[in-house]
Amino acid sequence: MPELPEMEHYRSQLSPRLCGQRITGVTVNRAATINEPVDVFTSALVGKSILFVERKGKHLLFHLDDGHRLHLHLMLGGWLAYGEEGPKKDSHFQVILTFGDGNSLYFGGLRLGYLHRMTAKAAIEELKELGPDPFDSRLTLEAFRKRLAGKRGKLKTTLTNQRFLAGIGNCYSDEICFDAQVHPAVAVNSLDESTVERIYHSIRKVLTTAKDAGGYMEHPLTPDDTLTGGYNNQCLVYDRKGEPCNVCGTEIKFETLTGRKMFYCPHCQQGA
Ligand SMILES: [Zn+2]
Repeated sequence: MPELPEMEHYRSQLSPRLCGQRITGVTVNRAATINEPVDVFTSALVGKSILFVERKGKHLLFHLDDGHRLHLHLMLGGWLAYGEEGPKKDSHFQVILTFGDGNSLYFGGLRLGYLHRMTAKAAIEELKELGPDPFDSRLTLEAFRKRLAGKRGKLKTTLTNQRFLAGIGNCYSDEICFDAQVHPAVAVNSLDESTVERIYHSIRKVLTTAKDAGGYMEHPLTPDDTLTGGYNNQCLVYDRKGEPCNVCGTEIKFETLTGRKMFYCPHCQQGA
């Protein structure tokens, strides 16, 4: 599932392309992806312009000039493409938005994911439970310590809890724990001060590196896009079961933790 780096990559790539663009066409091939009857959704969107694109955690909000938002959550398997032509047949995409400049935004793989049109107020209400963004300037080390204080449960479970922090999922929680040299299944109430500080810095370091590398999505966003997915081969533990740890050579271990995949180096990451 795309996480903060993937969605921030999409936001930064799409913002200059979409802002100020008027929607001239809407194709809906899967009605369950949207939240209104297709004709209502279509007629409400045609003629509206996109003012800007906002990211909240793993969600994207396309702000429209009539005060509404298009709320996108890619969930598992969702992806985006943009250009004059789609990378596959149009019928392959659940929704396509076409703009005045002749380009289209293609929404693919939306089985669990969705694209909902809603008022600004409804969008705020829907996302109100999200925790702070890891890059929020108010999330200082002290504020992070306070959020962790009194928490129970395992580190990975806490990092991936969208109410604790918004935007971290299975892949980056493992990469963050590896970078901080701490076991992902450690109990958060057993962490000492220096470990909490390492985790705090690793969160921003890992997410920044991944974002700058283009995240791990497999599909290019545009036909000439060589940046998207650049982080795919840079994961140090995630999806590397049985491969040697880059630091110590020990085999990367795989386990499940309350239904989530968990990859770690049993030598570099202790404490559980
Ligand atoms: Zn190691």
